[in-house]
Amino acid sequence: MIHTRQREVILDVLREAGRPLTRDEILRLGRQQIDRLGSATVDRAIREMTADFYVIGVEFPGQPKRYELPAASEHPHFICRVCERVYDLPVKMQLPKIQAPAGFKISGGEIIYSGKCPNCC
Ligand SMILES: [Zn+2]
Repeated sequence: MIHTRQREVILDVLREAGRPLTRDEILRLGRQQIDRLGSATVDRAIREMTADFYVIGVEFPGQPKRYELPAASEHPHFICRVCERVYDLPVKMQLPKIQAPAGFKISGGEIIYSGKCPNCC
């Protein structure tokens, strides 16, 4: 188990960002709090925390994997087409229920919007 301090920093960084971050972003922001934060340590901590559901991995086609804190409610994500940052959109939504075709078992879904973020407008 990774030392608690490293885990706390990762949770902190994600909480402060308020949007899903890539492992590189987590590492960069985490180093502002612990300068000797190692990339292998961060990778291991992320792996463990994802397994324990402290952190949720989010994947979008053609994008590096990102991580966020578990949300209280389902929310759509937004990808900025200019800076490629991913945001949580603070709106309530529910995924439409669909009838799974024969042979498929659906366990999750994701709604992604895209456009320009406030920094890029
Ligand atoms: Zn942007």
